Amino acid sequence: MSLKLFNTLTRAIEQFRVLDPDGKGVGMYCCGPTVYNFAHIGNFRTFVCSDLLRRYLEFRGYDVRHVMNITDVEDKIIASVAKSGRGLKEYTGEYEKGFLEDFDTLHCARPHDLPHATDFIPDIIELIQKLIDQGFAYRANEGSVYFSIERYRAAGRKYGQLLNLNLEELRVGERVKSDEYDKEAVSDFALWKARVPEDGAVFWPSPWGEGRPGWHIECSAMSMRLLGPTFDLHLGGEDLVFPHHEDEIAQSEGARAANEKPFVRHWVHIAHLLVEGRKMSKSLGNYFTLRDLLAKGFSGREIRFLLLSSHYRESFNFTLEGLTGARTALGRIDELLGKLRDLAGSEKAEPDRTFLDQFTASLDEDLNVAGAWGHIFEWVRATNRLLSENSISPAQAAAHLAAWDRMDSVLGVGAKVLATEAPPEILALLDERQAARKAKDFGRADAIRDELKAKGWTIEDTPKGPKLKRI
Ligand SMILES: [Zn+2]
Repeated sequence: MSLKLFNTLTRAIEQFRVLDPDGKGVGMYCCGPTVYNFAHIGNFRTFVCSDLLRRYLEFRGYDVRHVMNITDVEDKIIASVAKSGRGLKEYTGEYEKGFLEDFDTLHCARPHDLPHATDFIPDIIELIQKLIDQGFAYRANEGSVYFSIERYRAAGRKYGQLLNLNLEELRVGERVKSDEYDKEAVSDFALWKARVPEDGAVFWPSPWGEGRPGWHIECSAMSMRLLGPTFDLHLGGEDLVFPHHEDEIAQSEGARAANEKPFVRHWVHIAHLLVEGRKMSKSLGNYFTLRDLLAKGFSGREIRFLLLSSHYRESFNFTLEGLTGARTALGRIDELLGKLRDLAGSEKAEPDRTFLDQFTASLDEDLNVAGAWGHIFEWVRATNRLLSENSISPAQAAAHLAAWDRMDSVLGVGAKVLATEAPPEILALLDERQAARKAKDFGRADAIRDELKAKGWTIEDTPKGPKLKRI
């Protein structure tokens, strides 16, 4: 039994096989954020699902090298920088910091490499030169360099490996912008964009004149520099399939001989998110950044749970009601873990395999996370039943806890350790209440209990002392 994954390249669920002859190393590239504002919850579905895959590969014993780029130069960034009157690095640095804070809040494991496009200009220039030398790219009069899909196809290469494209209708939506009038064909795309006055101070020297890279070439240059010309996994949102990923393939494979290995072995695309049943839009009021949801009182783990509740290839309807359901579901897990911890005490044990094996079997099937959650909630029910019948020993409780730790290494929703995870102000109130009770000031003790309740916490008085619980 081992992992099977859908591959957009073959449109089939395939056995996941790695290039590493030892069968252990995995090179994984995810298209990262464009840092010119805060990422919205739809963007985060891609990152959370990518994190699930990385964690599952590690659970399965693979040694993953996870690369996620930071796009810190591109059209929308340049427009925003010009409006802000600030420097490029200063501007993008702020949003990158915000993005990584959000990434941590959602318990996403940090990638091993976070390459910035602006640090790879020499690699990008070298790659463009190779494409010119191969005859697939040309410099237009105004100084931009374009990739010619016609020339590429005329050489017997295939453009449109991920999608069956109607090449006649290609890119009509991107029709000739004012600065791209020198293209040979409307379907050609920019590798290097000649400097224009609106770019301000954002430009670099190149053999073709001052300018900046196109967005697509950035990912080809960075992924191949860090993972090699051929690597195992490339991930991204489904909206990136065309043109971004088709262009990445053409650029990367165009720079090498026709009979060499392909750029990427497995392509994984994550479906889009609807919010409250509609496509997210600011005018509909269903556009949420992670920060908007935190401000409504939801936690990173609740948001992560909901984003991970359905299969990555199905579009998912994200709702505030769903988040409330996530809170309840996590509460059930937390409650069970609390009971198991009390019973296990200092016992240690190997993981109980019953549910762990079923959980693994589900995720092996193209990351069937909904099936995996199904097994987890079966486990919650069955274990609660054993606990209520007093038919579980401390050693068995420890084995269940060890199984949960294994499962949570993949899911990353984190077991809430009830009392100690409360923020300091809540713990301070708890101390104050204890002091009031000691002093027999029960009026004050009750007032503090109400205050805690208003902040979302209840106190359970147990023989071992008071315990805080999230409402
Ligand atoms: Zn990319």
